Amino acid sequence: MPEKVKLLWQLQELDITLRESHIVHGKVHDNEKDVEEISEKVAKLRSEIDANMLSRYDRLIKQGVSVVHVNDGMCMGCYISIPVGDLNRMKSSTTEPACPHCGRFLMLEHIWEEVSGGGNQSSASS
Ligand SMILES: [Zn+2]
Repeated sequence: MPEKVKLLWQLQELDITLRESHIVHGKVHDNEKDVEEISEKVAKLRSEIDANMLSRYDRLIKQGVSVVHVNDGMCMGCYISIPVGDLNRMKSSTTEPACPHCGRFLMLEHIWEEVSGGGNQSSASS
């Protein structure tokens, strides 16, 4: 089971939150405690993820996002369709699903359903 993508997804949410807080406030502001808390969560998540996945994640997140959804068979990172055969193979594969075009990690439906059950709103796609 590609469980690690879920961890990457959570990590990305936290990283984006941190990044936005820097953009909005210019510096760590009165939400310093939140930032500290998030940083702790980030560290914990990172400790659970393989080093090679992390380095790939880090490379991708610098360009924007690292983990993306698949919508109607289309990668929401590069907006190129992924062949159904590839998607099916990813679903049954034990390796982490990734877009064959841009290399971003993919949140496939079967993974996403479990995560979205948590109830937190997904960040608006930009
Ligand atoms: Zn892609």
